[in-house]
Amino acid sequence: EELYGIKNWGAGYFSISGDGEVMVNASKDDNTAAVSLMDIVSGVRERGLDMPVLLRFENLLDSQISFLNNSFNKAMKKLEYKGEYRGVYPVKVNQQQQVIEEVTKFGQRYHHGLEVGSKPELIAALSLMQDKEACLICNGYKDEEFIDLGLYAVKMGFKCFFVMENPSELDIILDRSKTLGIQPNIGIRIKLSAKAGGHWTDSGGDRSIFGLNVSQLIETVDRLKEKGMLDCLKLLHYHLGSQIPNIRDIRSAVLEATQVYAELVKEGAPMGYLDLGGGLAVDYDGSNTNYTCSRNYSVEEYCSDIVEAVMSVLDTSNVPHPVIVTESGRSTVAYYSVLLFNVLDVEKFEEYDIPEQLDDNASEQIKNLFDVHKSINLRNIQECYNDALYYRDEIRDMFKHGRINLRDRAFSEKIFWNTINQIAKEKKKIKKPLPDLEDLESAIADIYYCNFSVFQSIPDSWAIDQLFPIMPIHRLLELPKRNAVIADITCDCDGKIDRFIDIHDVRTTLPLHDMKNGDDYFLGAFLVGAYQETLGDLHNLFGDTNVVSVRINPDGTYDLVKEIQGDSVADVLSYVEFDPKDMVVRFRKTAEAAIRDGLIKTSDRREIMRAFESGLRGYTYYER
Ligand code: PLP
Repeated sequence: EELYGIKNWGAGYFSISGDGEVMVNASKDDNTAAVSLMDIVSGVRERGLDMPVLLRFENLLDSQISFLNNSFNKAMKKLEYKGEYRGVYPVKVNQQQQVIEEVTKFGQRYHHGLEVGSKPELIAALSLMQDKEACLICNGYKDEEFIDLGLYAVKMGFKCFFVMENPSELDIILDRSKTLGIQPNIGIRIKLSAKAGGHWTDSGGDRSIFGLNVSQLIETVDRLKEKGMLDCLKLLHYHLGSQIPNIRDIRSAVLEATQVYAELVKEGAPMGYLDLGGGLAVDYDGSNTNYTCSRNYSVEEYCSDIVEAVMSVLDTSNVPHPVIVTESGRSTVAYYSVLLFNVLDVEKFEEYDIPEQLDDNASEQIKNLFDVHKSINLRNIQECYNDALYYRDEIRDMFKHGRINLRDRAFSEKIFWNTINQIAKEKKKIKKPLPDLEDLESAIADIYYCNFSVFQSIPDSWAIDQLFPIMPIHRLLELPKRNAVIADITCDCDGKIDRFIDIHDVRTTLPLHDMKNGDDYFLGAFLVGAYQETLGDLHNLFGDTNVVSVRINPDGTYDLVKEIQGDSVADVLSYVEFDPKDMVVRFRKTAEAAIRDGLIKTSDRREIMRAFESGLRGYTYYER
């Protein structure tokens, strides 16, 4: 458990069973209803679905929605807050129909609503939302069509708010509401001066691209007054950014926004809703610190700090407590999905067999490199590292100019890698950091080739170096003896993972087990439910993976509630404008020409066409 830190990042949802398999628990605080991921792998495979597969656990989504709502409700009760909490789920974080459907289903008991940022998202939300007590927050750029739909939603009894992202939106909102005769609920997004640290926080601060600055806010209030429409101004919103690791940044933003809220009430706006956006972070590395992939607070602290901060401002200015809205998406869905994949092959880094002594006729440079190898000790590793690189490059240069042959070059590379390996061993004995030698371990790590695409399934790992917990899902009673980096099957040099979570620092290798001959070895990438599915792309034409939804029952059995087959080869080709039917016709003509040219027999054509057509129907990933 300690090796992979599952207790730290698992939030009570993931643990290790007595027989060394990763278990998923139906709820945070109770592991009586739990299933082994290996059981699910067997069940899924028996039904004919191949790896990679994305599992979505209904129970975890249900539990996360309850946890957030209960935490806010408890904080409000304890602090005697007079308003309520109404969470909304930002559809952009995972727009899959099943996710939105489950959020609305599990959220109903708390009137948990939705936040949308575009027309497709609004239409998706309206097709699934039933709860008229829940909020429907419309952010993003809005054209007439968008506004008309939102106004109709208001007419049908939904608590639908238009949040102005810029001053020019007011005209179109007022114009359409006059034409349709429907009073809008207007919200304003403001730019705060507060700006948070972290990966995804460019949405905050004075220079953020969305929202109104304070002078635009005042102008908007004046225009609403002029038009006699100030009674439509009901909500104040800001979004500081996603994954805010430091609670201090959250607190100072809430204080600033609440001051603005109080001023708007004093201006005579009815208000009533304070929407604090997203930002609630996920502790991906389990360190509970203000690193970008972590957070230095718990969900309970987040809720009580917010409630306390809002009260501290409003109580001094005698303003009634509003409904507090937050738009937490990441923390709602991150735990929900787990990507499982199998290891296809391993390139092991092993010490080479090299002689004790060199032949006298070896070239000068190879002798020099060999001397470096022989002279390594604890005190000279940096010097030996520099020298080894220098001689290796010299030898490569000589090869380019035809001054040594391929065999000698191959031999020199063996000496070089043994030298690096020796330096890495010595480095382990030294406590102080050696910045130049930081990446040494990953350079001599084994490469585990795995059946998935980083670009399709965990794009943030490639795009912004986000860390996700990755670990084997079985054999966890055995000590893993190999140090590995992970390569996907896209053949892109960026299609790799060589940074892994650690509570003290980032690791450059992942401890993995030796592959037993012929046995399957499965790894899981955890906490991938937020953002990864829609941001994933078709690099090298690896398509959507198979998706299976799992419900864990109270007796520890599980049901596969929904299966969505991943993209076939024909599917992905049609995304890039190929027409699979046309492709078959063309290829048949090519085969016919090959018969005419005497390259294949007539009877071969049937087998060749069968292979082509079955390839088109097949999964884009490596099939067994
Ligand atoms: N609300 C808005 C307006 C956003 O842009 C985002 C995403 O960045 C969110 C909410 C979701 O925030 P989080 O990822 O912190 O849950």
